[in-house]
This record gives sequence, structure tokens and C-alpha cells, in this order.
Amino acid sequence: MREILLPLPSRDQSYRLLIHPGLRLELGHLLRPLKLPPRLFLITDSRVAHLYAAAVMKTLEDAGFSPILLTTRPGERAKTWAVVQRLARELLARGANRRSPLIALGGGVVGDLTGFLASIFMRGVPFIQVPTTLLAMVDAAIGGKTAINLPEGKNLLGTFHQPLLVLIDPQFLNTLPRAELLNGLAEVLKAAFIRDPDLLERLERGPSRLFWEPAELTEIIHRAAAIKAQVVVADEREAGLRRILNFGHTLGHALEQASAYRLGHGRAVAWGMAAALILSEKLAGLPPEEGARGRRIIKDLGLTRRPPALDLRAVLAALPMDKKRRGDDLVFVLLRRWGEPVIREGVPLGMIKKVLGEEVFGGGG
Ligand code: ADP
Ligand code: ZN
Repeated sequence: MREILLPLPSRDQSYRLLIHPGLRLELGHLLRPLKLPPRLFLITDSRVAHLYAAAVMKTLEDAGFSPILLTTRPGERAKTWAVVQRLARELLARGANRRSPLIALGGGVVGDLTGFLASIFMRGVPFIQVPTTLLAMVDAAIGGKTAINLPEGKNLLGTFHQPLLVLIDPQFLNTLPRAELLNGLAEVLKAAFIRDPDLLERLERGPSRLFWEPAELTEIIHRAAAIKAQVVVADEREAGLRRILNFGHTLGHALEQASAYRLGHGRAVAWGMAAALILSEKLAGLPPEEGARGRRIIKDLGLTRRPPALDLRAVLAALPMDKKRRGDDLVFVLLRRWGEPVIREGVPLGMIKKVLGEEVFGGGG
């Protein structure tokens, strides 16, 4: 079993992130030392419930817990205030109190929603993350950020609330649709670009090993999760270092927004990374062969095969302009070398427009 230890903000305690195939069947057993009350609440979406709730409920029962299952509908639309309120009232109706732990079983959506609820229900109850998507395993479930959406935009209400335990079972990915796997793969690539050139070379050796060999999958999850953990631990509140996690995301978010979220997060970030590599060559001294090879890896993993069918002007309009400066400059995470990120302020809009026009929308990828 692989383990990553994460300190809690108070620093005198820590919590564990465990990774091992089949771990979902040990959940009950692994919770025992945490001295939790027997009444636990397992929160999941209906799709994940259909696949995994029975097995997870059974491991909890076998370990002496009396779990209650609460479900939401699948997808981003569950991340709303209305759902938080409905779940909170169900918790009350089922006898939850201020010590009742919540277990999030699902992707980033279930994790964000459950974490948010756990942070405010009776001023905060313990929670446990059991991520079932690659994205959640390597990104969303690590770092203690929770959020729900508002009609005005995503993740606009949120809190920091660290879990007691994060339990990662790579076998969950056996049932994950390929498009969702690719979404998570973009975050794995991001971690590799900013921190782990060796992981990048592993990814270069091809997606087939990655998708079918359990040991390889466990290894890349471990590496990417460790990078996310290192960065957030070094920078709990996002002041400095945590910004490097935005590699590919400045443009990625603009692409997502311009597509009204039809373009998935992974593909949007993949295009954002491809463009950031070109900007890195121009502005941060990234050797052109590392830029070209990086873009080849992104493409070979199937993330940037076809240019997104988007209006360039809509993408530019969605970019977050740096208001402190002249008004048409942007802040970007770029690479000096693979694994060496730098924050560049004042990236001119004109250059971004050119790179997007030629390399992204031109299909140069
Ligand atoms: P993300 O982790 O990307 O934020 P979601 O939480 O919305 O995404 O999950 C994406 C979709 O995948 C949802 O429809 C969810 O029900 C489904 N899903 C999550 N985990 C699994 C799994 N292990 N197998 C199959 N489908 C899953
Ligand atoms: Zn992301």
C-alpha cells in the first residue's frame, strides 16, 4: 500500500492518503482506528451508487458501523445550494449530530459538495474522501478545497475543510468512461509538467499501458497525487506556490467558459497547456525541443486531436485580464524547463491571440 501523509493546518496532526487496488473493500477496517461514532453517512451520486454503494456499505457494516446512504443526481448540477440544504435536512431527519462523519464516494462533484456540507453542517463535521474519478484522485480530493456553484459561475461558494482520510482505489477507474479518464489525465500531465519530468516520460511511453496495466495506473496516481499534496501543503492558502497548479488553466478556463462548458475541463486544460508551452518557448526560454515534445505527448494521449470549435474572440473575452496593469496583459504559469515553472506577469494579449490563432485554432497542436 502506498501512503502520503498530509499535515493538517494546525500542524500538530496529519491525515493519510492511501492508495491501493481494492482498497474500497477495506474502508470499514481502515476507519476503525479513527474512533468515529457508528452512525456514518455515505454520500454519492446515483451512478456511482449503482456501481459501488452496496460493496462499500457492506465493508462499513462488517466493521461495526451503521451507515446510511444519501444520493444526489450525477453531474455538475448537483453542486448547488438547494442540494446542500436538502442533504442537510436529510442528515437531521436521520439523526445526524455534530460528530457524525460524512463519507464522499464519487468524483470531484460529490467530493466538493460533501466537503462543503461537512464544513458547515453543525459548524463542521468530520469527512472522508473516497474519490472514484481520476480527476478527483489526483486533484480535487487533495488540498481541502470545497465548493458549490452559483448561477453566476462555478465554485463561487466554498470553504477549506480537510478530510480525516483520503482513500484511493485505482480499481474504481475500471468503470470510468474514457472521456472522464482523459479529464483526469490532463491533471496528471499538468503535475508532470510542473514537477516531474520522469512522469512525463512515462506518459510518453503511451496511453495503452496506462489504461490497462493496474500497476502503472497506481504508480501515476501516486506520483500525481504526491505532487498536488506537496504543493498544497507548502502553500495552504494559495498565496504563492499553489499558483503553479494553474499551469494550462488560464487559457483552459477561458476555453471552457467560451464553450459554455461543452468542452470538458481536461481537453480545455490540455489546449491551455499546449498554448502555454509555446508561450514558454517565446517568453521563458523553454528549449523548443521540450516544447514540441511536450505538445506531442499531450496529443498522443488523445487530448488535443481536433481543435475546439470555438470563436477565438469569445475565448479572448473570457480571459482574466490583469487589472492592476495596463489592462490587456495576463499572468501565466510558464515553464523554463520541464519541471521548472515560472510565473510571468504582463504576457501581452496580442501574443496570446497569435498563439491561439496559429497553433490551437489552426490545428497545429
Ligand atoms: P469529476 O471528478 O470530473 O469532477 P464527476 O464527479 O462529475 O466528475 O464525475 C463524472 C461522472 O462520472 C459522473 O457522472 C459520475 O457519476 C461518474 N463516475 C464517477 N466515478 C465513476 C466510476 N468509478 N465509474 C463510473 N462512473 C463514475
Ligand atoms: Zn484542473
